Amino acid sequence: MPYDPTSLSNLDEVKTTHIHLDLAVDFAAKTLTGSAELDVEAIADNVSKVVLDTSFIDIRSVSVDGQALKHTLEKRHEKYGSALTIELGHSLSKGHTAKLVIGYATTEECTACQWLEPSQTVGKKHPYLFTQCQAIHARSLVPCQDSPSIKLTYSANITAPLRAVMSAVATGEEKQANGATTYKFQQKTRMPSYLIALAVGNLEGREIGPRSTVWTEPEVIEAAAWEFVDTEKFIRTGEEFLTPYDWGRYDLLVLPASFPYGGMENPCLTFVTPSLLAGDRSLVDVVAHEIAHSWMGNLVTTENWEHFWLNEGFTVFVERKILGHMQGKEHSEFSAIIGHKALVESVDLYGKDHPFTALRPCLRGEDPDDAFSSVPYEKGFNMLYYLEKQLGGEKVFDPYVRAHVQEFAGRSINTDDWKAFLYSFMEKHHGQEKVDILNKVDWEAWLSGTGMPPVENKFDDTLAKECNCLCKKWDQSRHEAKPQEFTPQDLENFSSTQRVVFLERVSELAPLPHSHLDLMDELYNLTTVRNCEIKFRWQMICLAADYEKIYPEVAAFASTMGRMKFCRPLLRSLYLAKNGSELARNTFLKHKSFYHPIAATMIAKDLGLSNVNVHSEMEPSHVFAAQLLDALPEPEMAEIQRRQSDMSVSIQKASASLSALNEFSAAKWAVLHPKFEAHTRAIKELQADLDYVFRRIRAMKTKLNLPNLDDDDEEEEE
Ligand SMILES: [Zn+2]
Repeated sequence: MPYDPTSLSNLDEVKTTHIHLDLAVDFAAKTLTGSAELDVEAIADNVSKVVLDTSFIDIRSVSVDGQALKHTLEKRHEKYGSALTIELGHSLSKGHTAKLVIGYATTEECTACQWLEPSQTVGKKHPYLFTQCQAIHARSLVPCQDSPSIKLTYSANITAPLRAVMSAVATGEEKQANGATTYKFQQKTRMPSYLIALAVGNLEGREIGPRSTVWTEPEVIEAAAWEFVDTEKFIRTGEEFLTPYDWGRYDLLVLPASFPYGGMENPCLTFVTPSLLAGDRSLVDVVAHEIAHSWMGNLVTTENWEHFWLNEGFTVFVERKILGHMQGKEHSEFSAIIGHKALVESVDLYGKDHPFTALRPCLRGEDPDDAFSSVPYEKGFNMLYYLEKQLGGEKVFDPYVRAHVQEFAGRSINTDDWKAFLYSFMEKHHGQEKVDILNKVDWEAWLSGTGMPPVENKFDDTLAKECNCLCKKWDQSRHEAKPQEFTPQDLENFSSTQRVVFLERVSELAPLPHSHLDLMDELYNLTTVRNCEIKFRWQMICLAADYEKIYPEVAAFASTMGRMKFCRPLLRSLYLAKNGSELARNTFLKHKSFYHPIAATMIAKDLGLSNVNVHSEMEPSHVFAAQLLDALPEPEMAEIQRRQSDMSVSIQKASASLSALNEFSAAKWAVLHPKFEAHTRAIKELQADLDYVFRRIRAMKTKLNLPNLDDDDEEEEE
C-alpha cells in the first residue's frame, strides 16, 4: 500500500489510471478553464468516496456518467492544499472502475502556472505560459491524486491562441472558429502527476535528431538547434548503458530568459533555461542529466518525496556514466568533485545535524520544496559510487543498474524496495561473497544519518589539480606590480568546467588588486565570454573587489537573465559593492517586469525594496499602516518616516549581508568580516528604531481607537 505524507488523497482505496484534460487557455484572465476526466480504480472493497488533492482550484462540477456527484472542498491545509472529497453514491469493490468528470478553472494563485507578460519573452510581442508541477504543484493544475506513488497515462486537448506543447506526444491539431487552435496530446507511458507539463507561447520547432525537436521562440531557434545538436548521442549512450528509450520523442523546450530555474525532466519534452545556450555546447551536461531522468525518476519513480534520492541520486549517477562514456573518465570524476563541493555547501547551509541532510528524511507535515538541496543528488550519488567500488566496479555494477531499471520500470518504489533488489541481484549473480560485502555497509549511517556521508570517496583529481595550481599562482603574484608569468595559453587547454572551477577558487581568495583583474581579463577575455557560468563567476570576483569597470556589464547581464542562480547573487553583490547600490536598485526597477514574479519578489527583498509593488495590490497590513500614518500629526509622522527609512536601509544591508554569508564558504569570511561587523552595528541601531516605532504605533492605536490586527504578537511582547 503506497504511503505519501504529502498527499491528502485516499491512496489506500483508489488509484487513478488515466487523466484526460480538456482545457482552454485564457491569457487575459490568466486561467485554464475546462474539465479533467479521471479513470479511477478501487484497490480495496467498499470504496464509497474518492479524495483528490487540489490547491487554489475553482471546482465547478463533479459528475459520473452525466450524474452530478456530491462533493466537498475541505478546509485548506497550509502546505498540502484543499482535499476534494467526492461521494460516489454507491460502493466500488476492488478492481471496479469509475470515470469522474470534474469541471474546473485555475486561479491566479495556482502555483503550477507561470503567466509571462510579452515583456518577459524574447520576442516581446506575445504572452507565454508554462507550468512546473514538481514537487507538489500538479494539484494546482488539475484535481488529482498528487503523489508519485500513482502512475498514470494522460491525454489532453488544449485550446489556445498560441502553440501549445506538453510532456506527451502531439497527436494532431484542429483550428477553431474563433481563431484559436486545439492541440492534442497523448502520453502512453505511465508516469507520476508531477510530470504533467504544459507550455503555450509563440513557439517554433526545429528538428535536431531522429526523435528530437527543439522548441523555442523563433528569435533563438538557430542558437538552440546548434547548441543541442548532440542530444541523440546522449540518448543513445543512455540506451547502451541501460534499456531502450521508452518515451518515443525526446524534445527540448528552451524557455524565455525569465524562467527562474535550470531544467525540468518533463517526459518527451525537457524544459531548460536559455542560460544553457553558451555558444560552445559546454553546458549541455544538464541535458545529459535530464535524459538520464527518462529512466531514473520518470520510469522508475520514487514512491514519495522522502525517497527523492532514488530519482536524483540515480540520475546523477547515470548522468556521470554518460559523461564518462562520451568525454572520458576524468571528466565524470571531475564532475563528482564539483558535486561533492555542492554537497558540502548544502550540509553547511542546513547544519550537519539538520534532518534534511539525511538521505531519507521524514517529510510528515513538511513541504518537499523546503527539503530540496544537493543532498538527494550528491549524497545519493556518493552512496551508489561507494557501493560500485565495494562490489567490484563497473563489471559488477553496470549490469546491476540495468537490471534495476528492468525490474522497476513503470513502478514507484521506496528505499526498502531498492535495497531488497540490490541484495537479491548480488546474491543471484555473484553469490554470498557480495552479500557479505553488503552486510558490512553501514546502512543506518548512509540512509538515516545526517551531515556528510559516513565514507568519503576518493575521486580522480587530475582536472581539478590544474585549476588549483593556476589559482595559487595568481594568489602568489598579488604583490608583484606586473606579473609576467601568465599568458592566454593558461586557459587554452581548460574545459569550460575547469574554467568555472578555476574562477571559483579565485573567488575564495581575498580580492586581487585591480591591476591583476585588468591583466586577467586581458589574457583570458572573461568580460566578453558568452558562457553564463563563466561570466557569472568572473563578475562575482570583480564585484567582491569593487572593480567598477565591471558594473555596467553586471547590470546588462542581470537584467537579461532571470535564472535566479545568476541574477540574484549578482544584483545583491552589486548592491553591496562600493558605489554599486544605486545602480543595482535602478537596474532592477527599470527591468522589474522582465523578472518572474518569484524572482522579482526575492530580488526586491535582497535590495531592500520590499515596499516595491511586485504584485499589483497592496497587502492588508500595508493599507492599515498607510491609514495609520495618515492619521498622525505632522511632526510625529516626519519622525516615523525618518526612522522608517533608516530602518529599511539597515534591514536591506543586514539581510543582504546575511544571505551573502549563507552562500560563501569559510574562506570568504576574512573578506566579509568587516562588512558584517558594520551591519551588526546597524542591526542594533535598527532595534532601537523598531522599539520606538512600536511604542508610537501602540500609543496611536489607543489614541485613535483603532482595531488591533495583531493581538497575539502584542501580548507576547508585553
Ligand atoms: Zn534531476
